[in-house]
Amino acid sequence: MAQGVSGAYLGTFFHTPVYGQMEYLKDALIEVDKDGVITRVALPADADYAQLVAGYRQAGTLTELPAGCVGLPGFVDIHVHSCQWPQSALALDEPLYLWLQEKTFPLESKFADLDFARTVYADLVDQLFARGATTVVYLGSAHLEATVELARICVDKGQRALVGKTVMDDPEANPSYYRDASAASAVADTETLIHEVEGMQHDCPQGVWPVITPRFIPSCTDEVLKGLGDLAARYDCYVQTHCNEGQWEHDTVLARFGKEDPYALQDFGLLRDHSIMAHGCFLTPEEGELFERLGVAVAHCPMSNPYFGSSVAPVRRLREQGVRMGLGTDISGGYSPNLYESIRQAVMSSRQLETGVNALVPEAERGGVPDSRISVVQAFWLATKGGGEALGLPVGDFEPGMAFDLQVIDTKRRWSDLTGFGVFDEPQDQLARILYLSNPENIRQVYAQGRLVCNKDA
Ligand SMILES: [Zn+2]
Repeated sequence: MAQGVSGAYLGTFFHTPVYGQMEYLKDALIEVDKDGVITRVALPADADYAQLVAGYRQAGTLTELPAGCVGLPGFVDIHVHSCQWPQSALALDEPLYLWLQEKTFPLESKFADLDFARTVYADLVDQLFARGATTVVYLGSAHLEATVELARICVDKGQRALVGKTVMDDPEANPSYYRDASAASAVADTETLIHEVEGMQHDCPQGVWPVITPRFIPSCTDEVLKGLGDLAARYDCYVQTHCNEGQWEHDTVLARFGKEDPYALQDFGLLRDHSIMAHGCFLTPEEGELFERLGVAVAHCPMSNPYFGSSVAPVRRLREQGVRMGLGTDISGGYSPNLYESIRQAVMSSRQLETGVNALVPEAERGGVPDSRISVVQAFWLATKGGGEALGLPVGDFEPGMAFDLQVIDTKRRWSDLTGFGVFDEPQDQLARILYLSNPENIRQVYAQGRLVCNKDA
């Protein structure tokens, strides 16, 4: 397949411009300009379709999806701890404090070594591409230099990235070998990160942005939370943190401030338009309204919630309240960098929230929350357009004006044939097979902003 921008892509594509509504674009021609932006989607019924296809073919700027391949939008993963990639799948049987003290903090502290950071981060970006993620929101380690390096690697490799240096300054809550030296230094480092990353934007067509990143309230002093909130206002910058994730965090914040996470974060100026709050398991209807009103987004991380979330996030209710929402793998609270796994778990968890889970309790008393299930198509929207809306970026579907981010899925891959042998072959059946059954081998090429960024057939 040809590399480069400005041209057209011919094939069959699935996307969800509207929450829960799949669109099937059969034999569509997607025209992309030199900036990697979709200018038009032409269909066979259009009067000039044949002429357009012939024109691009003649010019040598037509990329045709091979037989058996279909296209999906690039995924938007809005919660990834880049510095936890080496411990993915480890220690998940431990309680949070042991997971942090024995594995996570010792690992994250190693990112003081820039060579180590470069090696891990370059691999992670490639691994996420290989699983279809073209836009990623990263939490780096507490180190400024390594986090700047992560942003540079994303810029160089063509991944659209939002990158934050994790702030954790409270000496009572963090180990002496791994924390910010002071609130003032944490704020100063974050401000430097903002300048460094914004300095990379002029030469980055897919986009790169800094993110103000307090780890979560229990890791941070009041002073640093206030300093970061002030920075967010001054630079009109993205904010991300964990919010209302698990019982311990929830209770700790309540005991410290006499109010829940969202209101405490709001007091510090950290709830803003397109702020990204990971988890949100404990969000009440009133807090959902607050998020909707302020434009705050929830990063739903269904893979990690069974381990550290103590609950299932109320995705369906929050969506019905109009809250912006996308999906996060949450490496390494989530065990896999594969957002397909998050899609599947989001559906499964929502069904368990609806029914309750203890079969020894009579059904009517099982504690389920009625009307909580989401469909796999709704979960697919979360992984694509929902993530784009959460971030306020033109990504996540194949409409004109959107960045051209594409995963090419080979449905006939040996050992992972998704064709169903012609049985139940309606578009919704094809998409369900891809979402539930595909593995990274089915993803053959990935494009971000019109650039080929991963090619497994090269
Ligand atoms: Zn997290």
